[in-house]
Amino acid sequence: MAIIDRLIGSSIGWVPKPIVRKIATRYVAGESLDSALVVAKDLNRQGCMVTFDVLGEFIRQSEEADHTAAEYGDVLKAITAHGIDGNISIKLTAFGLLLDEAATYARVRSLVEAARDLGHFVRIDMEDSPCTDRTLAMLRRLREAGLSNVGVVVQAYLKRTMQDLATLADLRSSYRLCKGIYVESPDIAYKDAQEIRNNYLACLERMLDGGSYVGIATHDPWLVEKCAEILKKRGTPPADYEFQMLLGVAEGLRSEIVRGGHRLRVYVPFGRDWYGYCVRRLKENPKIGRYVLAGMFRRN
Ligand SMILES: Cc1cc2nc3c(=O)[nH]c(=O)nc-3n(C[C@H](O)[C@H](O)[C@H](O)COP(=O)(O)OP(=O)(O)OC[C@H]3O[C@@H](n4cnc5c(N)ncnc54)[C@H](O)[C@@H]3O)c2cc1C
Repeated sequence: MAIIDRLIGSSIGWVPKPIVRKIATRYVAGESLDSALVVAKDLNRQGCMVTFDVLGEFIRQSEEADHTAAEYGDVLKAITAHGIDGNISIKLTAFGLLLDEAATYARVRSLVEAARDLGHFVRIDMEDSPCTDRTLAMLRRLREAGLSNVGVVVQAYLKRTMQDLATLADLRSSYRLCKGIYVESPDIAYKDAQEIRNNYLACLERMLDGGSYVGIATHDPWLVEKCAEILKKRGTPPADYEFQMLLGVAEGLRSEIVRGGHRLRVYVPFGRDWYGYCVRRLKENPKIGRYVLAGMFRRN
């Protein structure tokens, strides 16, 4: 399987763009905010909340980060104007993290303040391990500045995550918990699938113990079942957590979760950089290519 994954990852650049576009339409809500709003309204009608992701994390100039921040400002206004049940997810690299940390903080802070003024929430996605410390430090700075409408993502595959939760405990922050999508070294990340699942469940318990709101982001049916068991056993009310899934993935399981009375949020990526997004994701983690291929031949 690893050979097939590597093959998919290395050959993606050769796949004609129209074919990548065809595959992407399932996972990306178009190029414009208008197209993303159509998708979001439909998801809201199906009983799902949404989180918008403006695609384009790799930037070279600070003007691009300013542009990203402005685009997210428009998304916040549109959420309000269209009465969408949704929030936004941002990547700090798209706000300039690798160029200038101080300017990044200023951009993110003013966005989180704008979101607060409109009654919205901002989720900071977690990127690869060179960004982890800086992302968590940014969260702490924002929270300590009195902004409670911001939370972060943590990755169950990282061996450090349980310790990070302990370090952040005083913030009683809202989290999204995911397995983690980047390819990391075995020195810092669990590689065994069951070990990652076990750490996921341990992190969930830790977050709930600490009184955090948790976004349980996974499409793994085993994990969904175990998380639901934990929530039931603890008597956690549906208002204290939500499940989260990516647009176009595991839609059957998604409906089941909603029918089960749980809140569920769909991650809705959109933007002109849809091609770069798909290619980068496949190169970063070719396993996704296998999912996508399988998904093309499977009905949910
Ligand atoms: C809402 C949300 C936000 C996320 N945010 C982040 C983040 O900030 N940082 C980060 O590192 N990771 C993030 N992820 C990705 C996450 O870390 C995992 O890589 C991804 O969810 C796959 O893990 P899984 O738990 O679904 O289990 P897996 O066992 O990997 O997947 C279970 C099944 O789901 C399907 N599947 C999973 N992922 C995909 C996909 N991309 N395309 C098509 N089918 C798929 C496959 O059928 C697979 O068999 C996010 C995931 C979600 C759902």
